[in-house]
Order: sequence, then C-alpha cells, then structure tokens
Amino acid sequence: MVKLLSGKEVAEALTVSMKRDVEVLKAKGITPTLGIIRVGEKGPDISYEKGATKRCEEVGAVVKNYRLPEDTTQQALLDVIREANEDPAVHGVLLFRPLPKHIDDNAARAALLPKKDMDGITDGSMAGIYSDTSQGYAPCTAESVIKLLEHYQIDPAGKRVVVVGRSTVIGKPVSLLLLKKNGTVTICHSKTKDMASVIREADIVVVAMGRAESVGKESFRAGQVVVDVGVNPKPDGSKGTCGDVKFAEVEPLVEAISPVPGGVGSVTNCMLINHVIRAAQERS
Ligand code: NAP
Repeated sequence: MVKLLSGKEVAEALTVSMKRDVEVLKAKGITPTLGIIRVGEKGPDISYEKGATKRCEEVGAVVKNYRLPEDTTQQALLDVIREANEDPAVHGVLLFRPLPKHIDDNAARAALLPKKDMDGITDGSMAGIYSDTSQGYAPCTAESVIKLLEHYQIDPAGKRVVVVGRSTVIGKPVSLLLLKKNGTVTICHSKTKDMASVIREADIVVVAMGRAESVGKESFRAGQVVVDVGVNPKPDGSKGTCGDVKFAEVEPLVEAISPVPGGVGSVTNCMLINHVIRAAQERS
C-alpha cells in the first residue's frame, strides 16, 4: 500500500473521468450547471467559489452565480433558492453557510430541493444517507473520504473504523457511509473517555475534529490507515494550514496517512462537480 494518500492524485483521476462524462452529456445537448448562492463577501466562500469554478471549467461544466449582499433579506434569499430550484438548466446548487445571523438557516435549508442539494445540507439529503436511498447527495467532504479510500483500494469491510467527530457535515455522514461499506464503526467526540485507546483499536481512523495537530503518536500504532479531514490554521501562527493529526510524528508509525494540505481537501470540490454531473445524468 502507498504511504501517502494523496488527494491530488484522486482529484486528477476524477477530473479525467468527469471530462468524459461531460462530453457524453454535451453530445446530448446538456451542459452540467452548478448554481452557487453566496451571501456576502466572506474570504473562504470566495476562494471555494473560485476553486469550484476553475474545476467546473476544467471538465466543461459551468457555474451560474447568485450573489446577494450581506444585509439581504431572508425573503430575497428564499426567492433565489426557489429560482434555482425551478430552473431546469441548473442541475445542482451550492449554498454557502454559515449564513448571516439575521437569516434562518433552517428555512434556507428547507427551501432547497434535495435533488438540487449538491452538498448534503438538506434534511432530505441526510435522510437519504440514513435510509440508504438515493435521495439527495452526501456532503462532499464526507464522500471525499470514501473516494480517497476507494482510490487506494482500502476496503472498510470487516475492519474496525474509528471516526473522531460527530458533526452533521462530516462525522455523522462519513460514519454512515463507512457503515454502508461494511466497516465496524465507532464514533468518538469531545466526551469520549480515553480516546487514544479507542483510536489504537482501529484499522482505519478518520479524524474530523477541527483541533490543530492535537492527535499524536500515542493514539496510533503500526498498520493503521489514517485519514485526516481537519483543515486548521497552524498553531504557531505561521502561514498555511495543518490537519488534526501531528503528521510529522504519526506518519512514520502508521501504514498510510492523508496529508494536510493535499489530502481530503483536494478531493472536495471534485466531489461537488461530480454531484452536479450525476444530477445532470439523472435528468438526461
Ligand atoms: P465541528 O462541527 O466543530 O465538529 C467537530 C467535532 O469534533 C465535534 O463532533 C466535536 O465533538 C469533536 N471534537 C472536538 N474536540 C474534540 C476533542 N478534543 N476530542 C474528541 N472530539 C472532539 O467541525 P466540522 O465542521 O466537522 O469540521 C472538522 C474539521 O474538518 C475542521 O478542521 C474543518 O476545517 C475541516 N473541514 C475539512 C474539509 C475538507 O474539505 N477537508 C471540509 C470541511 C471541514 P462534540 O460533538 O462532542 O462537540
């Protein structure tokens, strides 16, 4: 098995197959189109939007931008969501969250149709994962973890899998996706006692805590596969990002590990475009 689970490599492979899928759709007169709804001018939203737009262009898909000012009304946002829902040329929608405080997040999520929800934010998409039906789409980051494992032929079936984190964006959905892959899944969170001994029991460890370089070699052993989902500012304040795992001391110990940056994060916007292509295929 390779030592470094490179998200960049996975993204390159996905890009090649997505280009082929888009060519087939275009031959039928369909151009996969992603609607991006952004409220305000938050730096991380703008940079994610740029990355997603670039990836769309690379594979031949297009982006339709819906931009609203930070002080937009809730009604204006709901109107834009409904417009995107009803536009047959828009195959899927990405709505940036968190939304400004004066907007009801639940109302915004409820307004989006699960079949257009490309990042698994609606209750319908979440129910789809829970009930194992094809309703909606899984959150892109959670699905990226699965893609990364699949690419490196790491099969969770029958393995002990520990997921650290239980958020609705990553921890819970990735746990259910790993269960679907027949892993024996344990979920850790901030109230878990002696987490290091729980993690050491695992064959595959997925860490999604959002705590910079907080899990060190005392939690790991030889033979494990580690997927680090965390993207955090570096604890020493220097430029760039780091994961939740202390990469330098854990990498020599385990069998395989995903780096940060260059791991799961590199696959995420590919998964988003992948969902848009799937949505376009389903309606072709
Ligand atoms: P979140 O909503 O803050 O959830 C963090 C989870 O970690 C919670 O369930 C929390 O437990 C648990 N946790 C926190 N401290 C812990 C501790 N000391 N011990 C055990 N569990 C602990 O974060 P998130 O949205 O899931 O994001 C997690 C990380 O993924 C962040 O670094 C984020 O930046 C990153 N991320 C990466 C991508 C990507 O594309 N790679 C995309 C999105 C997010 P409780 O539930 O008990 O509080």
